[in-house]
Amino acid sequence: MSNIAIFPGSFDPITIGHVDLIKRALPLYDKIIVAIGVNSQKKYLFSLEERLEWLRKVFADEPKVEVGHFSGLTAHYARQIGARYLLRGLRNASDFDYEKTISQLNNIVGEGIETIFLISQPAYSHISSTIVREIIIGGGDATPFVPEALRERFKST
Ligand code: ADP
Repeated sequence: MSNIAIFPGSFDPITIGHVDLIKRALPLYDKIIVAIGVNSQKKYLFSLEERLEWLRKVFADEPKVEVGHFSGLTAHYARQIGARYLLRGLRNASDFDYEKTISQLNNIVGEGIETIFLISQPAYSHISSTIVREIIIGGGDATPFVPEALRERFKST
């Protein structure tokens, strides 16, 4: 039985903080599914297709990473694809407060699914998709925060 984890998120857009977390978690799993959760109540800056395409591009050379998307509950998707672990990152105390409750709920809804947390490296703990979106909307240069493979796309005009 293979050891599969899901790294769920919006990835609107994916940042170097996400990539660092995934790379650090790779030795722990046979496979990591980086999965975009689609929430109909949420407004996104980038389309699902674009976000999926960027994930595929960033992890093109990483055979242990697969890209997916789902609507509905993360815990249900995890069960459906045979993943027993959810991977999440913690940057600060507010991440912790939020994630703690979600992980407790997922453990019940997902019938034993475990959330594994990695603390972000100091060099990445200030980076969030929200900040990157603000820079993009404001016409700034977001390239220092996005993975190398996407830098050309995010150069400010
Ligand atoms: P969500 O919309 O679920 O918050 P995100 O795409 O913003 O999804 O983030 C997905 C996961 O990546 C979350 O667990 C978040 O804490 C983690 N994460 C985001 N940015 C960083 C970072 N700079 N360092 C480490 N983890 C991060």
